[in-house]
Amino acid sequence: MRPIGTDPRSVPVGTVQGVAGYFRTSREECAVATEEPETSQRDPPPVSLCIQLSSAEAPASMENVAVFDSPGKGRGLRATKEFWAGDVIFSEASISAVVFDSLADRICHSCFRRQDKLQRCGQCKFAHYCDRTCQRAGWAEHKQECGAIKAYGKVPNENIRLASRILWRLDKDGGVVSDAQLATLEELEDHVADMQEDELKEFKVDIHNFLDYWPRGSKQHTVDHISHIFGVINCNGFSVSDQRGLQAVGVGLFPNLCLVNHDCWPNCTVILNHGNQSAVDTMFHSQRRIELRSLGKISEGEELTVAYVDYINLSEERQRLLKTQYFFDCTCEHCTKRIKDDLKMAGCEVDGVKPSDEQVKEATDYCFEMMDKLDKARLKGDYHEVVKICKECLEKTEPVLADTHIYLLRIWSSLSEVQAYLQYFDDAAEYARKMVEGYMKLYHPNNATLGMAAMRAGVTHWQAGQIEVGHGMICKAYAILMVTHGPTHPITKDLEAMRVQTEMELRMFKQNEYVYHSMREAALKNKPMTMMHEPKSVEEGIKNLFHRRK
Ligand SMILES: [Zn+2]
Ligand SMILES: [Zn+2]
Ligand SMILES: [Zn+2]
Repeated sequence: MRPIGTDPRSVPVGTVQGVAGYFRTSREECAVATEEPETSQRDPPPVSLCIQLSSAEAPASMENVAVFDSPGKGRGLRATKEFWAGDVIFSEASISAVVFDSLADRICHSCFRRQDKLQRCGQCKFAHYCDRTCQRAGWAEHKQECGAIKAYGKVPNENIRLASRILWRLDKDGGVVSDAQLATLEELEDHVADMQEDELKEFKVDIHNFLDYWPRGSKQHTVDHISHIFGVINCNGFSVSDQRGLQAVGVGLFPNLCLVNHDCWPNCTVILNHGNQSAVDTMFHSQRRIELRSLGKISEGEELTVAYVDYINLSEERQRLLKTQYFFDCTCEHCTKRIKDDLKMAGCEVDGVKPSDEQVKEATDYCFEMMDKLDKARLKGDYHEVVKICKECLEKTEPVLADTHIYLLRIWSSLSEVQAYLQYFDDAAEYARKMVEGYMKLYHPNNATLGMAAMRAGVTHWQAGQIEVGHGMICKAYAILMVTHGPTHPITKDLEAMRVQTEMELRMFKQNEYVYHSMREAALKNKPMTMMHEPKSVEEGIKNLFHRRK
């Protein structure tokens, strides 16, 4: 069995942004200064004010949680008071974070926004920023790195850059960088002893290169300590997404989050909030932070959990992923009782007649084979081929497999995405609806992936002119994202705008269909939906919560 990547952030950027762009007349973007900023040799002004401001906005207090010994899991966090759906249990800034090597010139190294026009650091020519404000805000993190890259003569990989940034930070602030930090980095697991041979080999190469890169003038560390830091990053590094939460663009370390254990059916979700980065002055910036949010009622004393892997996978597959990536055996209720595994591999019942196990197995194997072909066609960007493969597959398997079968869901998801890109909106809408209906039977009602899928389906229905269904789905997505992302997240704000817009359109449509259609035509002509990007391969999205070194 293979993992099914249905992470919300693997949604193609264009599907959502296109409509968001259409709906919103103005978008807050960082103003980009015209000249390339020169890195000053002196430190930019201190940024303590902005840290105070952000902590006033979202308290980084950890008084709602306590560290305890979780039976069978080691250390964990539990609630010290009652919580309800959508409550922020805690929020915290990263000790440090870096942009992926592959996106180093496309993502701002300070605010992690994707921008078309970035400006290079005049010194190292490696770090890129939206503007001088971002450069100033990121200077404390970049200062030593900038000098080290210049001296080293090349740029080390993302693991080494992150380990270095963390060590410089620790050297400056000590093992506990804030009062709210519940454990030192020393206390976190590194699992170096559990690594497989080939993984260990790459690990050692990183440490070797780190030692070459690390400046003589910086505080020297033992190889054991350095290896521990690399190990901690390896099993606790958290994927940092771009400002819309649609693509993984970097990796960071959030020390308190590391203490939250896994459950396949968790009571919390974690989301990255970029805070306010659009203000032109650094003092109004608020920091990028993660938020641990409650998915439903949590009682005082209950352990807080998040899912490290996507629930859509069968329990056996989830357990395998967790073992190889996070080095533990999952004994959660859903794994031990194999809850919903039957639905995920089920055949469909037509007029009380079920297909035989043999038929279901045959259709499942066939689907699996076609998924492989589909991925290859998708990687090549041959989207018409993708459509052909999906349709061929569906013709054979739709009559046999249940609407909760995870391979069928995967085919519907890919097909709707590609059809929306090719602007066959009616077709795209139909498959998106099937996908959401299947997801609703599998996922927790407040699952972020479900919310993002409903958003995508809502947008597609709107594009297909099915305004009523579209509006319903957008409302559903909005209700979920208010819990999982919160009202200040850019995607929730986009959804709010879409909800208002579709509501208005729906009212107009009910009053006068003709006027509505002519206005919509005019609006579409005025601002055609050409912002749609190519559908990305699932590989490019965020497969798992925590980042894995490559
Ligand atoms: Zn920026
Ligand atoms: Zn630099
Ligand atoms: Zn489990």
